[in-house]
Amino acid sequence: MSDYFNYQNNQLCVEQVPLTDIAQHFGTPCYVYSHTALVDGYRQFESAFAGRKHLICYAVKANPNIAILHQLAWLGAGFDVVSGGELQRVLAAGAGASKVVFSGVGKTVAEMRLALDAEILCFNVESEAELVRLNEVAGSMGKIAPVSLRVNPDVDAKTHPYISTGLKQNKFGVAYTEALALYHKAAELPHLRVTGIDCHIGSQLTEIGPFIAAVEKVLALVEVLAAEGIALEHLDLGGGLGIRYDNETPPSIADYAGALLTALQLRNEKIIVEPGRVLVGNAGVLLTRVEYLKYGEEKNFAIVDAAMNDLMRPALYDAWHRIQPVVRVPSPQSSDGTTSHSTRLSKDDSQVAGYPASGRGGERERQSLIYEVVGPVCETGDFLGHARELAVTQGDLLAVMSAGAYGMSMSSNYNSRPRAAEVMVSGTVVQLIRERETVHQLFAGEKTFLL
Ligand SMILES: *Cc1c(COP(=O)(O)O)cnc(C)c1O
Repeated sequence: MSDYFNYQNNQLCVEQVPLTDIAQHFGTPCYVYSHTALVDGYRQFESAFAGRKHLICYAVKANPNIAILHQLAWLGAGFDVVSGGELQRVLAAGAGASKVVFSGVGKTVAEMRLALDAEILCFNVESEAELVRLNEVAGSMGKIAPVSLRVNPDVDAKTHPYISTGLKQNKFGVAYTEALALYHKAAELPHLRVTGIDCHIGSQLTEIGPFIAAVEKVLALVEVLAAEGIALEHLDLGGGLGIRYDNETPPSIADYAGALLTALQLRNEKIIVEPGRVLVGNAGVLLTRVEYLKYGEEKNFAIVDAAMNDLMRPALYDAWHRIQPVVRVPSPQSSDGTTSHSTRLSKDDSQVAGYPASGRGGERERQSLIYEVVGPVCETGDFLGHARELAVTQGDLLAVMSAGAYGMSMSSNYNSRPRAAEVMVSGTVVQLIRERETVHQLFAGEKTFLL
């Protein structure tokens, strides 16, 4: 578990608040975040890079809720955005554009205009064609665009292929071998100002080696550029630091930063990093309720009210999330001294408002069984966990752990399911930071076709 989600009297709590209370108040499915986890993570980055010019640019796509952006901005963070929409969120959260870097392979003219208008810190340019377009757009606005080239260092991040971005075959960045020529081109284009270099090799990295391999390749380029008269103001090393979902052992923030700083000790440019997952992943859980238990010949199913549209990672990457009961049922000692796996709750305890304990799985004893934890969406890929041992009954609450990053941000309305509510907790303070979507909102923009 973590310091922020813990059992107190067999009740899983976020900080000092039982998740049961949150479910009662706000309903399920619901994302719940620990404010303290967020702040602690950010402060670890700040202290790890203290003593060196730096900027921590939170990767907004990991979790773009305005409350999270606002809090990080208040702590001094910058932001890494990958769309005009994310830039508008950052501005709406009250953050200044002067700490925003803009990444992504497909920036449109409209997005470039928006970012030039706002006067962001830097465009992380990912192709020659983008360089040419940005120069034109900036020229048409009478502006000079600050640019970095996102260099693809051709390093194996040793992570899932869908979240590996720094290999030659990936769509991201400019080829290492072409970077020098493109820097010279950028330096000659009249409406661009070369300010930095950028790389980002993938996500959920659990080893330091690939980060350092990438830094060394970037540094080799920086030195050639300096010798050829192109001096840079900042080195952006991207994000990608992994977290513990199961038994991974990613480096700590301090160790990761320490290794980067050691590799960079001969340079004095400002260092930018773009952490996403590591700041929010373990700061959030997805709270869900068991709707039905279904016993099959080969498998048992715990059908919960959260689904792949709420948390896509299992369906998309076969990602593993720990699934914990919100109320832990202690195994009592039976009279013959052996431990019983099945426990009978009193009728009062098993009654949850609105969920009559009826039928099979309702009155049934909470027996420890192996379940497929699945949602209501009509897809076989709609699962949150395979083969989980759980002692649950209908109406019980479950917490899908480590769901703060790429959970809500990847959610959809598939099956016309309104998106979940989001709640943030600090100590005993509980606040709704996003209302549950209504079905009406889902089709509000749709029109009947009339001939
Ligand atoms: C997604 C992304 C990040 C953040 O990655 P994490 O693994 O969440 O830290 C940083 N930079 C860029 C360019 C990205 O696309």
